[in-house]
Amino acid sequence: MPAKPKLGQNFLVDAQAAQRIVAGLGDLSSRTVVEIGPGRGAITGALAARAARVFAIEFDRDLAAGLFERFETERVTVVEQDVLQFDFAEAAERAGQRLCVAGNLPYYITSPIVLKLAKSHAALDLAVLMVQREVAERITAAPGSRDYGLLSVTAQMYGAVESLFTLPPSAFSPRPQVESTVFRWRFAPRFAELGIDEAGFLRFLRQAFAQKRKTLANNLRAAGATPGDAAAALASTGIDAQARAEAVSIEALASLWRRLH
Ligand code: SAM
Repeated sequence: MPAKPKLGQNFLVDAQAAQRIVAGLGDLSSRTVVEIGPGRGAITGALAARAARVFAIEFDRDLAAGLFERFETERVTVVEQDVLQFDFAEAAERAGQRLCVAGNLPYYITSPIVLKLAKSHAALDLAVLMVQREVAERITAAPGSRDYGLLSVTAQMYGAVESLFTLPPSAFSPRPQVESTVFRWRFAPRFAELGIDEAGFLRFLRQAFAQKRKTLANNLRAAGATPGDAAAALASTGIDAQARAEAVSIEALASLWRRLH
């Protein structure tokens, strides 16, 4: 069956890479793993060999049927569904544990999947995900680096992220036009620790990073803060008046939010 580019179908043909993705989740002997987009089963086989329980969520009906034939057992359940509709909270409750997540993501919906996982954080323990290299660089970036921005802070608010390894286009069939990077995300939200309200802080981040070329102070003013309030809040939290949000750490953004609220 030919791959469907519209569904982001670039199948992993590097068996060792599939093993490394699964190994990135650690000991799975008592764990329930949700695989996003199992496709032709490159990662599913390695998961089935190691995990106590696997839910493989595939949107493509033909591929889901093939996976069902090949993998469905008491321990492996193939679910034909859009992962954006999958209820991680319910699956975690049924499993009686927080879930592990694995996946070579369909790149056309990387951001919605990352945001969905962030929202589902209470049901999740650990994820090892393959995304386009540039996206992984943004997710794992440190303040002040070229790639640090809204996506970095948002992901990192929900837990520690680290890049594991990068694969060339030749690791896939058909070959994508980009390199791919696998990263690990250990869910441990920082909202309580930093004394901030989740929804309010996420709204604030969208304002702080609204315009990349503007300073943080200007973005705050555009969002309704008076120039005096913005300047005073920056000064009292030790952030340079001319700083752009891209240079400011999560901790400093959190103290700024506390100061403004
Ligand atoms: N895991 C396989 C591998 O590594 O070879 C396939 C990875 S491929 C990059 C992405 C997979 O996600 C495809 O099988 C595609 O059909 C599936 N997919 C696309 N959109 C999806 C969605 N909304 N929900 C679940 N799976 C989806």
